[in-house]
Amino acid sequence: MTADWTVLPALFVAGTIIGSFISALTYRLPRNISMWHGRSSCTHCRQPIPWFYNIPVWGYAVQKGRCSSCGHPISIRYLVLEVVCGLMLIAGFLHFGFTMAWVKYSFLGYLLLAMSIVDHDYKIIPNKLNLTGLILGLTFALVQGEQAFSDAFVGGLAGAFSFLMIRVVGTAAFKKEAMGLGDVKLAGVLGVFLGVQLLIAGVFFAFLLLTVVGWARALKDRRVGHREIPLAPYLCAGTVAALIAGHPFIEWYLQQFHVHG
Ligand SMILES: [Zn+2]
Repeated sequence: MTADWTVLPALFVAGTIIGSFISALTYRLPRNISMWHGRSSCTHCRQPIPWFYNIPVWGYAVQKGRCSSCGHPISIRYLVLEVVCGLMLIAGFLHFGFTMAWVKYSFLGYLLLAMSIVDHDYKIIPNKLNLTGLILGLTFALVQGEQAFSDAFVGGLAGAFSFLMIRVVGTAAFKKEAMGLGDVKLAGVLGVFLGVQLLIAGVFFAFLLLTVVGWARALKDRRVGHREIPLAPYLCAGTVAALIAGHPFIEWYLQQFHVHG
């Protein structure tokens, strides 16, 4: 199809609005504040933010990155998140076009982003995010037809079960909680979205990245072994890698197997 370039600015704006929503979500969800609970307020002076300063990107620029009431700096993270979310919607559109796959993978991308932020900040993955992912993943598998429903179902079970085993064995071996239940549930959600084959590739990429980063941090800081590393950002990066390079990787791997076996 021929991409209509005039639609890109509109997609970017829509993406930044989603980003602004994710900002609020990742702030409110771990604090048990309802998403319906009024307007956002400054985290420093608690003054409600007027709607025209809440407009994504523009609001940050007009206030020059400071609260209009108390002048306290607003974290640059809000701006970065809004811009990234805007670019994500465009990248997905350029890759998938106006398709259900675009909707599905955009949704997955935003969900994983929200999970990674909360897991990074609080070392938890809220049940509400996992449950939303599970329900929508199964729904997409039912209505979209790109992926067999049985593959989504088996993928979900395989993800949750294999991570549960890692948790049980790891906890017994290290005599402390080896992996959060949130990670087990997240592996199930990823299995639903990816199916069995891509799930295996995604988990492989995630642990590969975790190993590389773990070594780099251990070299830099010897205390790293005592620090808890949130798993969700790695699982999310592994998922993106699997969606981009999973199928060629699986083919390559199977070829090696045939040559040597
Ligand atoms: Zn303020």
